[in-house]
Amino acid sequence: MRISTDSDKCVGAGQCAMFLPDVFDQGDDGVVVLLQEQPSEGKRQDVRTAAALCPSNSIRIVE
Ligand code: SF4
Repeated sequence: MRISTDSDKCVGAGQCAMFLPDVFDQGDDGVVVLLQEQPSEGKRQDVRTAAALCPSNSIRIVE
């Protein structure tokens, strides 16, 4: 699994960082900061859930 985030689309809502703070963080401007591009197998489902929670569809997953 590989993750990418689109900082141009991110609206800084923070759901990703609240749900999975070891993978997603936010900068001072609230925009998403990706901490892990390739999270471990055990995080796959949580990453999918975080992507689904994002209101601006800014999280992309390549399996
Ligand atoms: S949930 Fe989406 S909009 Fe909110 S900070 Fe994360 S990537 Fe940005």
